[in-house]
Amino acid sequence: MPLIEFTDKGLYCREGGFYIDPWKPVDKALITHGHSDHARWGSKHYLCHHDSRPILQQRLGPNHYQTAGWKENIYINGVRVSFYPAGHIIGSAQIRVEYNGEVWVVSGDYKTENDGISGQFEPVPCHHFITESTFGLPIYKWKPQKEIYSDIQNWIRKNKSEGKTSVLIAYSLGKAQRLLQPVSEVSNSIFVHGAIYNMHMALVNAGWKLPQVERVMPDTPKDIFKGAVVIAPSSAEGSPWMKRFMPYEIGVCSGWMQVRGNVRRKNADAGFALSDHADWQGLIDTCKATEAECVYVTHGFQSVFSRYLNEQGIQSREVKTEFGDEENAEEVKT
Ligand SMILES: [Zn+2]
Ligand SMILES: [Zn+2]
Repeated sequence: MPLIEFTDKGLYCREGGFYIDPWKPVDKALITHGHSDHARWGSKHYLCHHDSRPILQQRLGPNHYQTAGWKENIYINGVRVSFYPAGHIIGSAQIRVEYNGEVWVVSGDYKTENDGISGQFEPVPCHHFITESTFGLPIYKWKPQKEIYSDIQNWIRKNKSEGKTSVLIAYSLGKAQRLLQPVSEVSNSIFVHGAIYNMHMALVNAGWKLPQVERVMPDTPKDIFKGAVVIAPSSAEGSPWMKRFMPYEIGVCSGWMQVRGNVRRKNADAGFALSDHADWQGLIDTCKATEAECVYVTHGFQSVFSRYLNEQGIQSREVKTEFGDEENAEEVKT
């Protein structure tokens, strides 16, 4: 039996008796990060990194949570488990599993560029590496985030000078927090949608020092949005909730904005290809750096990426999971 098996409930370690990011309720779930396709409701015990705890509590409510620090060794039935930064969102981890000298690493979702709040990703040497492939096509090549931030800041300045509200569409967990610093450098008036506000407060209460935001309320006077910045999840787009910001411009922040057609399809005025995932080269460099003898490719462009790795002499295969793509859709009530 391999140390990690791909079962209908999720990634399973039989020796340790635990699952990693299971999509069905289990007794013991190790969680890479708080996105809803990885941290699901209904398990009896959760083990995650310290920084994921407030996020899991906010999303899943009270539960049995155990937490660990970076690279701290935890033994579960003799299996050694440790968490390494994945650089994807606050608290996101790669999970390293070792037993009898064999090492597996489950990456969850990861981003190789350091965004200042999600930790510095590092490749973890292993025999078997399980990687995502959300942006596993050669067309996905990110600009350095500094350049994207200055594009966003210039766009905000321009809207402000025209008396318009800048509405940034960003995923409520991850992208929204990441945008606060660059946005606060050009605007002292940041409003957020309720979904983003709730997560923001959970993090602030857990000790995170994030730039200040205000929640958009039904009775917030409309004229204070003039020239201000609003951060909202994609479900807010085109909804009546947006009317109060008129006149406004919409800027969508997502890796998918690298493809021009998607900017039009989203009815955005501007698209910023800011992603919380590795791009094509980032995925390749990571797989090579782990020196894994086998790479298992999950959610994304599995077949393209897996085939490429095989052509490069890295043994690889596709694995079907129920992990999704949080940059493409988010269901949040407005
Ligand atoms: Zn994620
Ligand atoms: Zn994911």
